[in-house]
Amino acid sequence: MRIILMGPPGAGKGTQAKVVAEHFGVPAISTGDIFRFNVSEGTELGVKAKQYMDAGEYVPDEITNLMVRNRIDESDAEPGFLLDGYPRTLSQVEELDGMIKFTGHELDAVVVLTVDSEELVQRLLARAETDGRSDDTEDVIRRRQEVYAEQTEPLIDVYRDRNLLIEVDGMGEVDEVTKRIFDALDDVRES
Ligand code: AMP
Repeated sequence: MRIILMGPPGAGKGTQAKVVAEHFGVPAISTGDIFRFNVSEGTELGVKAKQYMDAGEYVPDEITNLMVRNRIDESDAEPGFLLDGYPRTLSQVEELDGMIKFTGHELDAVVVLTVDSEELVQRLLARAETDGRSDDTEDVIRRRQEVYAEQTEPLIDVYRDRNLLIEVDGMGEVDEVTKRIFDALDDVRES
């Protein structure tokens, strides 16, 4: 399975990505997690990414695309993968198309989690208290929502036009949302 999990910041992508990827036996590839790992290790990539992340802006496409390309080339991603937080721009969509085509496979589905926008901000503010992520301050949270609306929402139409889009209600308990995702993806596998 080659799946993309999309949704605005705070929609619960990270939590769902791990469960869904495990269910399908593929790695969950989270660009946010890879960036955060590099920031914590102080790598060259981390140093470059941090300034953008702390401001709530996207890391430039050239940096992000190369990082994903390298990750998808690893052997554990040969049977498939679940992408969490990539692609986020139209240019990343094109790059990903090229990467998948090169492997001779196709994308199976794009799952979008939909959550009410005020609920998103509240969830992220609650996360800020427990996780202490440096990009979970109220200003940066609001900026991340704006960037998502400007740069990532247009991708929804692109994937809808390709008949790959599955919209899943992301409100409610984690387990309920997981079940909705599984039900939707099982339909894809059976078709
Ligand atoms: P996330 O954990 O997915 O919310 O990502 C945290 C931050 O990492 C984002 O606010 C961006 O600064 C950066 N980031 C993650 N994925 C991407 C991407 N596909 N393109 C550009 N920047 C990204």
